[in-house]
Amino acid sequence: MSLRQLDDHDRVVLARIDARKPALLTRTLDWARLNTGSTNIEGLTAFAPILEDAFSELDADIQLIRCAPVDKIDTKGESTRFQSGSVLQATARPEAPVQVVLTGHYDTVYAPGTFEAITDLGDGRINGPGVADMKGGLVVMLEALQAFEAGPLKDRLGYRIVLSPDEETGNFASQQLIHKAATGAHIGMTYEPAMESGAMAGARKGSAIFDIVFHGKASHAGRAPEQGRNALYAAAQFITQMERLEHEYPGVTFNVGRLDGGGAVNIVPDLAIVRLGVRAPDQGAAAWTTQKVRATFDQVCERDGITGHIHGGFYRPPKPHNAAQAALSLAIAETGAGLGLSITYVDTGGVCEGNNVFAAGVPNIDTLGVRGGLIHSPAEFMVVESLAERAGLSALILNRLADGRIDAHRIHALMEPHHDA
Ligand SMILES: [Zn+2]
Repeated sequence: MSLRQLDDHDRVVLARIDARKPALLTRTLDWARLNTGSTNIEGLTAFAPILEDAFSELDADIQLIRCAPVDKIDTKGESTRFQSGSVLQATARPEAPVQVVLTGHYDTVYAPGTFEAITDLGDGRINGPGVADMKGGLVVMLEALQAFEAGPLKDRLGYRIVLSPDEETGNFASQQLIHKAATGAHIGMTYEPAMESGAMAGARKGSAIFDIVFHGKASHAGRAPEQGRNALYAAAQFITQMERLEHEYPGVTFNVGRLDGGGAVNIVPDLAIVRLGVRAPDQGAAAWTTQKVRATFDQVCERDGITGHIHGGFYRPPKPHNAAQAALSLAIAETGAGLGLSITYVDTGGVCEGNNVFAAGVPNIDTLGVRGGLIHSPAEFMVVESLAERAGLSALILNRLADGRIDAHRIHALMEPHHDA
């Protein structure tokens, strides 16, 4: 039977979701009203039990797991610790023949007081903080799983869910939990928003952040300049080398986003910190990039009196469009066609948890959330009808994975083994 056709199981889940449209919207707006900016620990801590309560409607074991604190390099070049919120983890039917990992995040980019209003735009769209990215996506995920579990295919598919409190800042606190939950799963489903048109993300570049710290020697610039060793000169040498690398490897981009260090102009600066972002399209490009950054750093440290250290690296490995991704993308587009949706895929330099799930060796689609746009801005909106539409899409994907119309084992076998980092 073609993936484009609906069977009785499909019609039952779609009818259930259709009847719950008002509830989906209410829940999304209730959740969007609660501020969960990535640095708002009180807000994240208050919201986690609300999520836990909602996801308890699933036939799964739920737990909130406190993440270990994360090291950040401050403007003095020293590492400070940041405590994020908790990860919600759910596990259902680990013995089932098909295993899916579902991920999403409950933090937003909005600090308390920056963007809190919810506005009905009157054209089927609602403007509000996190409605698309991704409180609406979490509602879609939960609704699809409930509809699936209400049907008779439940025992054939188990899952692990990870909902993170720190996606918008890079999942530094939660990435190990994501990796662990994803490892061994056949297919991944992540709930970042789709574009307003319904287009979804295809290949994603990998993303690295390097904090490169250079130490020199402070000295009075007038009385004893010869005793000083200028850390900003070292940083400048490093930065210009990065600019030269800009077009050396196809698809790799470098961006020096910030330089910290220095003070009064009569003092030779003894500290400089280069904040470097790099994007790379595949594993080979990422390895090349890391090697170039290290070699350039070593070269700069040959300057007299300059020492330093490198912090960071590829926190989101690349997610190229390999054979497994191609097969999964096609199966999902065909499933969407059964709902009258025309799903296309657009490659992007943007990154998300889908990169991390891929790095655990799991092919995945990561824009299964609502349709929306202008995310990370006070104009963020979602298309209201896409709540039920996308919940229906995910529920049908789960049905097909469970009954084998989408062959999870075959798609997973198309992954190249070296991606299990
Ligand atoms: Zn997001």
